Order: sequence, then C-alpha cells, then structure tokens
Amino acid sequence: MPVPATEAEVLIVGGGPVGLTARALLERRGVSTVLVEKHATLSPFPRSRLVNVRTIEIFRSLGLAEPVAAGAFAPEYGRVRFRDTLRADDFATAAMIGINAPIPESPVIGVVTSQDRLEPVLLAAAHAPVRFGVELTGLTEDADGVTAVLLDRRQGTESRLRARYVLAADGANSTARDCEDTATAD
Ligand SMILES: Cc1cc2nc3c(=O)[nH]c(=O)nc-3n(C[C@H](O)[C@H](O)[C@H](O)COP(=O)(O)OP(=O)(O)OC[C@H]3O[C@@H](n4cnc5c(N)ncnc54)[C@H](O)[C@@H]3O)c2cc1C
Repeated sequence: MPVPATEAEVLIVGGGPVGLTARALLERRGVSTVLVEKHATLSPFPRSRLVNVRTIEIFRSLGLAEPVAAGAFAPEYGRVRFRDTLRADDFATAAMIGINAPIPESPVIGVVTSQDRLEPVLLAAAHAPVRFGVELTGLTEDADGVTAVLLDRRQGTESRLRARYVLAADGANSTARDCEDTATAD
C-alpha cells in the first residue's frame, strides 16, 4: 500500500484526559492534530476523582478552570475517610491537599470530579478532528514521521494515516508503546 499524504502534524492516540488535553493545548499553539479513540464514545465510567492543583492550572491556561469546577462535586467530598465498614464512623480522615482551601503557591484550588464529568469539557475545548471507534493497530516510524495503521471498528475497515509525530495517550495498556517496543526489537 502506498504511503498516504501527511494528514496532521500530530496523531494523538487515545481520547482520555491526557489525549483530550493535549489536543486542546496543541490547537492553541496552531499545531494540527487528529485524535483516534477506539471506543465509540467518551468513557462513561467515574474514574480519576482528584484533579489536583497543577492540573487545574493547566486547565486555567485553556480557559477551562471554571467549567471543570462547575461540573465538580462539592468540596466536602474532598476528604479521604478511613472506616472499618461503609456504615461505621471514621476512625481517621484526611483532607486532600489543595481541595478545600487555597495553597499559597497557586491561584487555583483542585477539585473532586470524575472522568465522565471532565472529558466532555475537554472534548468541547478544541475543534481538531476526533475519530471515535478508530483503533491504532500498527505504527512505523521513518525519518520524516510516522505511518499509523487504523482500524475502524464499526466498519471493520483498515486505513493508514501519516503524521509528523505520534502522541501516545492510550493509557496504561498502550498499543502505541507496544508498537514502538516491537519496532525497537526488530
Ligand atoms: C476505578 C479507578 C479510579 C481512579 N481514580 C483516580 C483518581 O482518583 N485520581 C487520578 O488521578 N486517577 C485515578 N484513576 C486513574 C485514571 O483513570 C488514569 O490515570 C487516567 O485515566 C489516565 O488518563 P489517560 O488519558 O492517560 O488514559 P485513559 O483515561 O486510560 O485513556 C486512554 C484512552 O486511550 C484509548 N485507547 C487505548 N488504546 C487505544 C488504541 N490502540 N487506539 C485508540 N485508542 C486507544 C482508550 O480507549 C482510552 O479512552 C483511576 C482509575 C480507575 C480505574
């Protein structure tokens, strides 16, 4: 199959918090991106509860601190509680740093939210294309960039995408990292 024309400067693999934030940050800097996410939608699962002060600083630079905070839980949920059972009284409790009270080093405070609340805000923060239901299955690198093999999981079709760089934001079981390991091993 011939090498396709370059479609984007950066191919972002993964539509979680890292990939979506990178997409918004790169767009602000005029860098073209295409993001592929293997699932058909954003994650519905309430993972990743604590968004810490440094992350809110980054969201603030994107103009997102307010909408992220608006979708967050009330600050009283920002405590770690230790109990023998769910119905027992706390035998210890600790505040999460930077959640309930400001810290002197930062103009912002962290929030307790969850990924299903956060990701829609991040998705709406940029216009660059996002291809849901498209999985990275292969990756080769050469002197000028990368060629990605993409599987459209709805159609069952395979295509190739050419980019200058690939950004592996595909989580703990990263396909992109495995592809790189394979390429290195060869
Ligand atoms: C139950 C639970 C609770 C958690 N609580 C916290 C918490 O309180 N605080 C905290 O900081 N973290 C928490 N985490 C961890 C947090 O969810 C992760 O750190 C966070 O999701 C990492 O973001 P990410 O964008 O790197 O990866 P992910 O959110 O995992 O996103 C990666 C995305 O890449 C996609 N993808 C994977 N492979 C491919 C491929 N080949 N092609 C295309 N797309 C692909 C996946 O579908 C996924 O959407 C928790 C995790 C779990 C499971």
